[in-house]
Amino acid sequence: MAQIAILERKCTGCGLCVANCPFGGIEMKDGKPELTAGCKVCGICVKNCPQKAILKLETKVTSVDKSKWKDILVFAEVSGGRLHPVGLELIGKAQELAKAVPGYTVKAVLVGEGVRAYADELLHYGVSEAAVYDDPALSYFRADAYAACVEDYIRFAHPSVVLVGATSLGRSLAPRLATRFHTGLTADCTRLELRESSDLVQIRPAFGGNIMAQIVTTHTRPQFATVRYKVMDTPVRSEQESGKIVVRAIPKGVAASKASCVSVQPVPPKASISDAEVLVVGGRGLQRESDMDMIRELAGLLGGDWAVTRPLVEKGWATNERQIGLSGRTVRPKLIITCGVSGAIQFTSCMNGSDHIVSINNDPDAPIFGTAHIAIVDDLYRVVPELIAQLKEART
Ligand SMILES: Cc1cc2nc3c(=O)[nH]c(=O)nc-3n(C[C@H](O)[C@H](O)[C@H](O)COP(=O)(O)OP(=O)(O)OC[C@H]3O[C@@H](n4cnc5c(N)ncnc54)[C@H](O)[C@@H]3O)c2cc1C
Repeated sequence: MAQIAILERKCTGCGLCVANCPFGGIEMKDGKPELTAGCKVCGICVKNCPQKAILKLETKVTSVDKSKWKDILVFAEVSGGRLHPVGLELIGKAQELAKAVPGYTVKAVLVGEGVRAYADELLHYGVSEAAVYDDPALSYFRADAYAACVEDYIRFAHPSVVLVGATSLGRSLAPRLATRFHTGLTADCTRLELRESSDLVQIRPAFGGNIMAQIVTTHTRPQFATVRYKVMDTPVRSEQESGKIVVRAIPKGVAASKASCVSVQPVPPKASISDAEVLVVGGRGLQRESDMDMIRELAGLLGGDWAVTRPLVEKGWATNERQIGLSGRTVRPKLIITCGVSGAIQFTSCMNGSDHIVSINNDPDAPIFGTAHIAIVDDLYRVVPELIAQLKEART
């Protein structure tokens, strides 16, 4: 870890550091330089300061003894009275990863009220241990209380890797835990690999999707990663149970959480594009908002739902709930038809697990054809109405 320090007594306020910073990471305030959120700790300002008033401080990195951390732990979320399917997807992925390190097994932890009942189900997915924190004090998600329970189990079991679903609850829980262990967390991983050294390679698009970053937590344990629902395959349920259930005592102070639940207003479950088996997607190849009607019509005739790319959300043609992509939803339908979509990585990385991908684009070099299973190089204004007409005809 490194950080930049500015020695005020040496600084003359010449502004050369500001002029030379390519990231806008330093600015002048009241005649003195101040670091901004854009600072990348690259040290260019250090080199350009004639007064030597800026220093780059390096912290000596000490590594944990990795051999003391073992196995993969999955946080199996129970919310709204159901085991969230992302937990099972992560257990399936964890089973695959565990094969890379001899002796590694997959464990799960459940937190909440009445969650003991779901632990039995996890044993059908090959976990070696399902740890349960079941208490009325945990009936609603309170980040500090849930984090205290998972922290307790991590301190007990010493898992090398902790996988958490990137749900609203998981996104709140995982960073708190990573902070408590002073370790790394990679959010929204799209791929995971485990090295024999037990280092988890956490792969996700970075720098606006221009690269797929491989992030490794080399010095600390555990290694935290969140993964969105539908990114990993759902494992097959075995009829046989394996592993054991361990009911753990609630850590002291959990009931006295700083947060209290005043009232709960359940939001009625809404259909989500993530659950659709068939999706028709409109992209910027559509010229008018009213052209979305044919996208919706085609989706309806196929018994599916419709979705959009981000530019159409920005135009106000649909809400963000219908957007596929890094800043929208991840989908994995049986059939997806993209219409006038170019295939940017921010879009494709969140739909490329679909079973059948059909893409309509009039540009034969459109990147989407690198992802599509069936490429239709044609004008969507010809193809979509033709598909609608043929489906209608087939019904009469
Ligand atoms: C940090 C970040 C996050 C992002 N998150 C998302 C995200 O979540 N989701 C997302 O979608 N994007 C996201 N983007 C934007 C992304 O980079 C692309 O700009 C976007 O996906 C492009 O949308 P599009 O394919 O609809 O439009 P375009 O790239 O403009 O493509 C339109 C396509 O339509 C084709 N076309 C035009 N006319 C016709 C026609 N008549 N018939 C057939 N084809 C036609 C063109 O050949 C072209 O390939 C993000 C970007 C950043 C930087």
